[in-house]
Amino acid sequence: MKNKIIAEIENRLDELFDIGVWLYDNPELGEKEFRASALLAEYLEKNGFDVERGVYGLETAFRARLGDGDAEPHIVLFCEYDALPKIGHGCGHNLIATMSLGAAMGLKSVLKDTGGRISVFGTPAEETSGTKGVLTNKGAFDGVTAAMMVHPNAVTEESGASLAMHALKFEFFGKAAHAAAKPEKGINALDALILLFNGINALRQHVPSDVRIHGIITDGGVAPNIVPDYAAAKFYIRSKDKGVLEAVTAKVRRCAEGAASMTGASCDVSFFENTYDNLRTNGTLSDIFTANLMALGEKDIFPASDGVGSIDIGNVSYAAPAIHPWIGIGDSELVIHTKEFADATVTDKGKEALRKGACALALTAYDVITSEENRRKIKEEFDIGSV
Ligand SMILES: [Zn+2]
Ligand SMILES: [Zn+2]
Repeated sequence: MKNKIIAEIENRLDELFDIGVWLYDNPELGEKEFRASALLAEYLEKNGFDVERGVYGLETAFRARLGDGDAEPHIVLFCEYDALPKIGHGCGHNLIATMSLGAAMGLKSVLKDTGGRISVFGTPAEETSGTKGVLTNKGAFDGVTAAMMVHPNAVTEESGASLAMHALKFEFFGKAAHAAAKPEKGINALDALILLFNGINALRQHVPSDVRIHGIITDGGVAPNIVPDYAAAKFYIRSKDKGVLEAVTAKVRRCAEGAASMTGASCDVSFFENTYDNLRTNGTLSDIFTANLMALGEKDIFPASDGVGSIDIGNVSYAAPAIHPWIGIGDSELVIHTKEFADATVTDKGKEALRKGACALALTAYDVITSEENRRKIKEEFDIGSV
């Protein structure tokens, strides 16, 4: 049956690659991926999936389902399709989308025999608002057997970790006054903001080495002769561990309170983007994927590394067993988030990555659906990680 899955994907490889090239030629930014989302949803619908558009309150999200209503096991695949400003598909989400489409079609060819069900989620804005977190919070992945996607990269690498992240906006409200004539009447919101930066810089000495805190000033006053009555900054705070992130964030918030108290300004703290949880790769699921990828002829598979960025499948990994392996489309010189990377997605090597990635996803899903032993191990590992 594995050969049937591979043959189905290989038969469709040209049309899948064409979709990837179309996405490359027509990049759209996060939550504006109207045409990409429509194209992918239409492909799945045309091929027998039950498609709902605009799900979970997200205009460019979709869910495509195949298999009986609540049949188990339940496999989730992700399509991402947002691009980067000016660079286009420099993160290769055009390949993520087409690998999952291909995998869905491969699985469809055997689903009547294997049982189980597939859900393909179109998840917008991975680069910005991280909508998988929204879907996770709304229970979209509760009870899912395995949730998977493959991300292109310079080289092939096993699914690893990523950083949990909070996106916090700090606003200080002071009181305007003539900065020379009546400085004593003013409350300087910019001073409060600078004290926040200094407080955070002092805090850096006392956080674990994986913690990253980095911010910018977005509002710092309007003229030197007016005491700034409003100042604002945006910060990302990251850690390998969700719990550590919460503890450090509480300390950063105290820096803001201190800065407000020192100046007499008031302070408001809010989230300007969704929170990303760290990715907890399910090792059992990852091993099954790697074995399939090797069987497909992929030779140089690097072991998982510590993630240095934040990805929204991290949130999913707290609701269901998940993997996010990387597939190589270049060599170690190729850098993700560049125009060169976008160009590499539409080469022969990109097409070969699409074939292997789609096949490995589908074969992994097959191994999960048809083996109770695999499911038991995956679930056990997930439950231990959740304690
Ligand atoms: Zn990216
Ligand atoms: Zn990406």
